[in-house]
Amino acid sequence: MVVDPGCSKSVQDFLDSHGFHLSGILVTHHHMDHVGGIDALLSKAGKNLPVYGPASGRVAQVNRPVREGDMVDVHCLIARVFEVPGHTVDHLAYVIELKDTMKSDEVWMFPGDTLFSGGCGRLFEGSAQQMFESLQKLNQFPANTRVFCAHEYTESNIRFARAYSPDSKNIEAREIEVRRIREQGLSTIPTTLGVERLSNLFINAENPIEFKQIREAKDHF
Ligand SMILES: [Zn+2]
Repeated sequence: MVVDPGCSKSVQDFLDSHGFHLSGILVTHHHMDHVGGIDALLSKAGKNLPVYGPASGRVAQVNRPVREGDMVDVHCLIARVFEVPGHTVDHLAYVIELKDTMKSDEVWMFPGDTLFSGGCGRLFEGSAQQMFESLQKLNQFPANTRVFCAHEYTESNIRFARAYSPDSKNIEAREIEVRRIREQGLSTIPTTLGVERLSNLFINAENPIEFKQIREAKDHF
């Protein structure tokens, strides 16, 4: 299964090179860089391929609309659906707790454009209050939760965090780590909730007012 296929080619190449068949698509929100590859994947896999996504109707290809609390069968794994408005009003996140089906205490989170490493999504539609609450909802899981956010924005997010909070040793350490990872040509994603609790100003905001201040400062950075 694939989450948010913004384009089809990289997904199809991966499937072909591993001899896999696509058995479903999970969609977090309607932006083109998250849904642009769905049509091509459907034309290859067939129109009956399950496409899970917001029940708002904004993603035309969604044939399995889901809401808060719904469970999506991802082969032997169960993904729980969370409504996380803010970036868009109908934004979803998917969370897989491996303890449900496998002997692991790991949690895998697919927050789309809600939570990024060192940052969060822009408020295109929702309010600061909504995004604050959405981030709190995602931050309830254990520190070892692997966060597969949708974009590699970490470097610029940490640059902002350093400027906003120059005395934070944790953010300074994260900046050094991120630079080292990127210099090796590697991705900083997945991150973990534990890393984000140490270095993400947005999930650490105490209240919606503080969150709004940080969000507006980042928007003008
Ligand atoms: Zn988006």
